[in-house]
Amino acid sequence: MSANLKIIGVLTSGGDAPGMNAAIRAVTRAAIGQGIRVKAIYRGYKGLIDGEVTEFTSQDVSGIIQRGGTIIKSARCTEFQTREGREKAYQTILKEQIDALVVIGGDGTFTGGRLFAQEYDIPVIGLPGTIDNDLWGTDATIGYDTSLSTITECIDKLRDTATSHERIFLVEVMGRDAGFLTLNAAIAGGCEAAIIPERTSVMEQIEDAIGNGRRKSKNSAIVLVQEHAVEGGANAVAQMVEKEHPEYSTRVTVLGHLQRGGSPTAFDRILASRMGVAAIQALLDGQRNVMVGIQNDDIVLVPLSKAIHQKKDVKEDKWQAMLTLSI
Ligand code: ATP
Repeated sequence: MSANLKIIGVLTSGGDAPGMNAAIRAVTRAAIGQGIRVKAIYRGYKGLIDGEVTEFTSQDVSGIIQRGGTIIKSARCTEFQTREGREKAYQTILKEQIDALVVIGGDGTFTGGRLFAQEYDIPVIGLPGTIDNDLWGTDATIGYDTSLSTITECIDKLRDTATSHERIFLVEVMGRDAGFLTLNAAIAGGCEAAIIPERTSVMEQIEDAIGNGRRKSKNSAIVLVQEHAVEGGANAVAQMVEKEHPEYSTRVTVLGHLQRGGSPTAFDRILASRMGVAAIQALLDGQRNVMVGIQNDDIVLVPLSKAIHQKKDVKEDKWQAMLTLSI
């Protein structure tokens, strides 16, 4: 065991994601199993600055694997983006005698963690906890599978209403700058179109959806709109459709925070558990400033810089599948 690794800190930061609790549990138990003490830092980097730290025992993470959200809370903290803020955070690290950090979150969390690691020479391991699946170097992020299932379930419900009323439903889906949730949900939900940032064919797709719908005597359509694919989101797309096709009535559904909640799927629980254990192993192996990822069902370690800066593309075959099957 690395002689310098006596106490680790764990925090969740940025948007919450289902499976974060499973990750906290895994990190805690894997560490304790190796004789390492665990300090939970509440409210992400804000708690690190404010010194909101509690030592966890194995029992403290009992009964949480099935719970959505994060028991140690999350926050967005602009103070951590300042040098002064990070200096305060480092004072907490010293006071609590924390030797390494495991940060669970998305690219913002990793950007902050990486900077902190460079400035204060503290090992940081990132676990990808975000519904967006937008981190390079990992096939999946913790929470993505659950969110995708939730969105698909919502589409199924909307489909009942859409077919009963002959309308075009525009459904706004989360994803920051990435269209993974939207495109995959469109395939799973059998949608007529998916408007995503990675592809720019808004009216073309709508025309196809409407045209194909007529040919097949479909009387309704569900079009998914990634929140930032078009300025103004699904509402803006609805206005475009009504302008071009006043004969169609549109309805907008913004799924919003529904997409984040709920009990994590088995996939997310297993992913989070494996990643949490791997994070502790990585620290014991002397790794630092890496993200734990999954590729072809193998755990991999990816430099934080790559996970943040390299762009993950949507698979062209998925895009083609969505287009092909939407007729
Ligand atoms: P999600 O993808 O779910 O939104 P995220 O981790 O990307 O998660 P952000 O709000 O972007 O969420 O980042 C979380 C926190 O990370 C921020 O509130 C801030 O404390 C820290 N952070 C983000 N960017 C930086 C930065 N450039 N420097 C220092 N800290 C940062």
